[in-house]
Amino acid sequence: MPHFAIRDVPRLTVSRRLRKPPPKHDPTKEYQFRYRAKKHGSLPHVVKFSGGRSSGMLLFALLENRILDPDRGDVIVFNNTAAEHPDTYRFVHDCMRTARRYGVPFFQIEFQTYEDARQGEWTRLPSYRLVNEQPKSAANDEGFHWRGEVYEELLSWTGYVPNQFNRICTRHLKLDVTRNFLKDWLASKPTIPRLGHYGNASRLDPEATFRRHQGNQGGVPKHIFLRKRAYVWSRPHFRPEQRYAHFFPEWKPFENSALKGKTFGDKAWFGKRGVEYVAFIGLRGDEPHRIQRVEERNEGTAGYEGEHVYMPLNDMAVTRKDVNAFWERQEWDLALPKDTSVSNCVYCFLKGAANLDAIHARMEKAAKTEAPGFGSLRDTPCDLRWWMRIEAEYGRDLRAEGRTIRGNATHIGFFGNHTFAYKDMATGRDLGTLSETMLPCDCTE
Ligand code: SF4
Repeated sequence: MPHFAIRDVPRLTVSRRLRKPPPKHDPTKEYQFRYRAKKHGSLPHVVKFSGGRSSGMLLFALLENRILDPDRGDVIVFNNTAAEHPDTYRFVHDCMRTARRYGVPFFQIEFQTYEDARQGEWTRLPSYRLVNEQPKSAANDEGFHWRGEVYEELLSWTGYVPNQFNRICTRHLKLDVTRNFLKDWLASKPTIPRLGHYGNASRLDPEATFRRHQGNQGGVPKHIFLRKRAYVWSRPHFRPEQRYAHFFPEWKPFENSALKGKTFGDKAWFGKRGVEYVAFIGLRGDEPHRIQRVEERNEGTAGYEGEHVYMPLNDMAVTRKDVNAFWERQEWDLALPKDTSVSNCVYCFLKGAANLDAIHARMEKAAKTEAPGFGSLRDTPCDLRWWMRIEAEYGRDLRAEGRTIRGNATHIGFFGNHTFAYKDMATGRDLGTLSETMLPCDCTE
């Protein structure tokens, strides 16, 4: 399979000695990487690849310096939200192609729901699927989604949209999807099992589901509830059994004694005395707040049991400038602006006012064009109209729900109960100080 060359990767060796991060990155120097505990060196290593330049540089630093080992159960994962820019997907594909020659399994995975019975009633449950590196089409049923389908399936399932205080998109589309994948992967079986019933069509009863919503003190009127759920109920009601080798032909079983006795049935077991693994993320030295957040919750705080996070770019004092310089030395690169504003979900609500304005100016032109290999970008997450529709369909209408209205806010959309919504961007309304209250998007975590 053709792949691109990788040049001038920082030299990184595993060391027993703890060294302070250097004040400045120097690509000609050799750096040391140290495990915080001796046993970490034998745990499976998981690279959480975000599809951006920093994460790409980290990936090739780990691969070129032979820090990853497929025999230990190491794996590289990209979580697709179906809301990324086509150029991000191209970059992910190029990285996958290039990384393949190192023999370390690399999978693209997506959130999906399936139908199963719980307490005697059919319901939708969250899971994931493996997809290949080409866009989904009639001829490629196992391809990745890119028209927002995965993102919309989540919001249709939850019935509301994320905001900065409740990032259900990060949680379900990225963190939980990776976790669910690892439960299968670390069990070291050749397949992930089929999920969902064997019927030809959905068995879910909308009336019963609405009654359950009311029984749980839900206040959403029936017509809104059913309209919001219609999309998720139209999605495939099962996940077929999937073979790793089908998506990564070099796949081979691995045996890692650190995982022995930590599987239950076909799943690795997470939690107290469960599996542990090392996770690599591409946070850089010039992102101190994000690093601090990760460090604070590192080493097994709630929700991350067994995960030991490492950030080698930070250890090497790599900044955005160094990442850009690294990619300038390559023959290939991510074809998006270097300020990263278009990376991750194109119109992510956490990007801040200035970025969203810049993205909109750029994407308004792009939405009228065809992306080679993809097609028209109109009404996809590259188009503001998609975000406007999603916010209108899945945002909360507090009046309709009979909630107490405080201040002017009658709806809760992507920007919380601000009176601002994506439709205001279309009219050129000033986003004002909105960005000052926002946290940066830290989806790589
Ligand atoms: S990039 Fe933004 S919209 Fe996308 S999953 Fe992350 S927080 Fe959510």
